[in-house]
Amino acid sequence: MDKKQELINKWDAFLLKIESRFTDSLNHAKEASVNQLAESDYDFETTMRGWQGMKAQIRQLTDKIDEVWDEKVEPQMELIGDFASDEYTKGSILSDKLEENLQRFERQLEGELSQLFYDHAIKIADKKHNCTQCDAEIQIRNDLFRAQYITCSFCNTVNTIAPEAKFLKVGWGIVDNIAKVKTQTEFDVMEAAIEAIRLHRGQAPESYWETYEKAHSEYWNSFFKARITLNSELQNRYDDDIKRKQKEFENYKKIQTT
Ligand SMILES: [Zn+2]
Repeated sequence: MDKKQELINKWDAFLLKIESRFTDSLNHAKEASVNQLAESDYDFETTMRGWQGMKAQIRQLTDKIDEVWDEKVEPQMELIGDFASDEYTKGSILSDKLEENLQRFERQLEGELSQLFYDHAIKIADKKHNCTQCDAEIQIRNDLFRAQYITCSFCNTVNTIAPEAKFLKVGWGIVDNIAKVKTQTEFDVMEAAIEAIRLHRGQAPESYWETYEKAHSEYWNSFFKARITLNSELQNRYDDDIKRKQKEFENYKKIQTT
């Protein structure tokens, strides 16, 4: 085998190795995060900090592509011919792909951990509550993440039920993360539409903006609705949420097209 082919094969093997270590690391990170959530008695912040540490290490794998290219591969290739720039492309395509995979993975992981946290918090909250006056069983709502005032159907006493700290926490970030995963398909459509605009570098035809506007509004609409099914109070903000997102779209378009 000639020297050129030998160098190309070595580079290809190196990139394959990086990609497979990257995939293994993600699988490991998922397992470790799920375990940590249970072992920390559902301490969500600690678990997310643990994931951030693992993410930084996983990114170092991607950084290795450029390091090894600069230090070893390019100098060796340039000694024997003019083919290095084609080979460099393979590395940068892989870097982009791994970064995209990492972001996708993170969105899914946060969603899955949030779902586990949610299930746990609901289970705790679902324990029996009894009327302070007559001891009859009273049922709290599990889609309302604040103190609840429940009138006993037997004696009409109004009972105040103060939820557990974990249950209160569900109402905001946790339901957001779950809703994100439930609307992944709409999110992907929106991302594809914005990517198509980016590729035109400020020259995208108006029809591209129409496609993006539609995808943007469909995504946010389904995201806010998914949140409401988990936290009924968010219904009150639905109209404002939609208006705010519409405004964000208009501002973005203005900046990009003028
Ligand atoms: Zn009662």
